Amino acid sequence: MKNTESVMDKAKNGRRLSFEDALALYHHEDLLEVAEAARMAKERKSGNRVFYNVNRHLNLSNICAAGCPLCAFACGKNDETAYAMDIEDVDELLTETMLNVTGLTEMHMVSSLHPEKPFSFYEEVIRQIKRRMPDVHLKAFTPVEIVHFSSISGLTIREVLARLKYAGLDSLPGGGAEILDDEIRKIICPHKATSQEWIEVMETAHSLGLPTNATMLYGHVETIEQRIRHLITLREIQDRTGGFQAFVSFPFHPENTALSHLKRVSAWEDMKMIALARLVLDNFDHIKAFWMMLTLPLAQLSLAFGVDDLDGTVQEERIIHAAGAKTGSGIGKAELVALIQETGYQPVERDTFYQPVGCEDGVVEK
Ligand code: SF4
Repeated sequence: MKNTESVMDKAKNGRRLSFEDALALYHHEDLLEVAEAARMAKERKSGNRVFYNVNRHLNLSNICAAGCPLCAFACGKNDETAYAMDIEDVDELLTETMLNVTGLTEMHMVSSLHPEKPFSFYEEVIRQIKRRMPDVHLKAFTPVEIVHFSSISGLTIREVLARLKYAGLDSLPGGGAEILDDEIRKIICPHKATSQEWIEVMETAHSLGLPTNATMLYGHVETIEQRIRHLITLREIQDRTGGFQAFVSFPFHPENTALSHLKRVSAWEDMKMIALARLVLDNFDHIKAFWMMLTLPLAQLSLAFGVDDLDGTVQEERIIHAAGAKTGSGIGKAELVALIQETGYQPVERDTFYQPVGCEDGVVEK
């Protein structure tokens, strides 16, 4: 075990942490000291600001060819909960969104791997969203979906991404990374993109000027060492491309999955992983708490552990709720603002590129 005093000193001074350093911090007995280093790292990047955005989630279908053991959302096409939106359904949802959501800046679309929809369908969905909402940023398709599009279309990953970008895609979310270790993936998601494919999609997207997020799903069958290696892999990609906008970690929700015998990790573990991510990912500007996975109280607490982005208003999320998340499926802007203000940080409504938008008195920094 490393001398944690010198590791803590490195962490507090923003020096790059090695794998051994990160492991030592994980095992450091004083979590609040680790939190303090993470809070300092956050404030070096974002100062007193905590970001949020007004976004809407859209999940096109839950019919999926992959059948991952970790998933509670997907089903077969004859399942009674199965649904698949067509272009008209998407259009209806856009109309409803335009009527009901004020100040929307981002659509966030992730879906299952539908066994029958052709690649042209997804291009058309993008064109339709951009036709109806030309000023709204479209963040869509995880690397897992991109690999699926490549396999159903015969196009390379680069060709798929270039065509989606041409249709109007603005950026990619970072989902499907889970833990970038193929031994783990064989257990939790054997039929979806491999670690190398996930990395290839991200690096290709970045090279085409499509920014992305990066994620980690922890608390299932992985070891602490595998989590840390995952973080270091993300840091190495970021060193090469600079294309990641934010990192988001998700605790695994076992309910309704084939891994339901597992137990959801503790709040202590959640906070420790958030702080560790902030410290290891020294080249990421933003660490995001996805409140829907964490719950609002824990997401608020995470602001003291290095988080500078509370994600968004979301509206109608289906995937996490299928796995038993008890959070609401959306939140009002005023409630998000109040949660941030209570911590003493300054809420800043942002667009997808972390530029301030709006001008509520005393709330938005211009
Ligand atoms: S995690 Fe994604 S790819 Fe796997 S079954 Fe669920 S929706 Fe399909």
